[in-house]
Amino acid sequence: MKLIDKLRNKRHLEDYEYEYLLTKLSDNEKAYLFEQARAVAQENFGNKVFIRGLIEFSNYCKNNCYYCGIRRDNEKVERYRLNKEDVLECCQTGYQLGFRTFVLQSGEDDSYRVNEMSDIIRTIRDKYPDCAITLSMGEKDKHTYEQYFHAGANRYLLRHESINEKHYASLHPEGMHIQTRVQCLKDLKEIGFQTGSGIMVGSPKQTTQNLIEDIKFLEELSPEMIGIGPYLPHEDTPFKEEAKGSMDTTLILLAIMRLMHPQALIPSTTALATIDPTGRDQGILAGANVVMPNLSPLTMRKKYQLYNDKACMDDEAAESLDSLNKRLEKIGYTISYDRGDFKGEKDV
Ligand code: SF4
Repeated sequence: MKLIDKLRNKRHLEDYEYEYLLTKLSDNEKAYLFEQARAVAQENFGNKVFIRGLIEFSNYCKNNCYYCGIRRDNEKVERYRLNKEDVLECCQTGYQLGFRTFVLQSGEDDSYRVNEMSDIIRTIRDKYPDCAITLSMGEKDKHTYEQYFHAGANRYLLRHESINEKHYASLHPEGMHIQTRVQCLKDLKEIGFQTGSGIMVGSPKQTTQNLIEDIKFLEELSPEMIGIGPYLPHEDTPFKEEAKGSMDTTLILLAIMRLMHPQALIPSTTALATIDPTGRDQGILAGANVVMPNLSPLTMRKKYQLYNDKACMDDEAAESLDSLNKRLEKIGYTISYDRGDFKGEKDV
């Protein structure tokens, strides 16, 4: 327990101490870790969970990450792109339901020209000045990020996946480099985006040492948002036979992140809800404070599967919000309809 108190107070541990937390905790110690992480989340956010409306606007991707269901070489995927009107329709639905953050997510799809994408962002910004716009569109050059920022986007999610060069290379084909991703993250922060990064827990060949390196990288980067979810295999990828990540380790890492980054926005991910029906609740009870319900059209959702059996595919946004609310109430939480910026961010 001393180690957990130390992490809460100092927000930093030695490598061997992280190793203990990741691999040797007893059930009692785990319960104490989650309790402390929950207390820190509650100190900062009360018993509130922010919601983000996820709009998966294109499942085309030029990349071929070995773990991803919408990788370029997966010919079984039925590809789609939403146009500007479709995206605006999703925003309208979301806004009426109370969402004040829209997350525009896609594969790395270069068919949206920078001007076209900026126009979509600018239109959302003009129509919904009280909303945050989050982008999750992969690696771009700094100038492109700047244009999106100036068009009105506020936040950008880009998981680094593994800071260890060798491990990163085992997850991604030649031509993709962790250095590029780190540069993108630095550019995003420099431009002024609230920036999110993170990893999959239990991705193939990941070692405990890799996880420690990732913890230290995130400590240095100090992102405003941290995405931690278990690795889940997809049957049409080279990693189809690989074992899924551990829910336990995911929750431990999530709690460590909360203790190290008290004010970070940390989602309880759909991957957690997929690995276990109570996964989303457990994520919140381990210190997460964000949930991202899907606003994408129902017909498109099944086509946007990074892994198999993705949870929450069949509910309309309104239904899913309703059931989310009920679930949260059962564990003593409620939805916050605030925009939920990282504290200290200037108004935009
Ligand atoms: S993980 Fe992202 S970049 Fe990689 S193939 Fe999937 S959508 Fe594309």
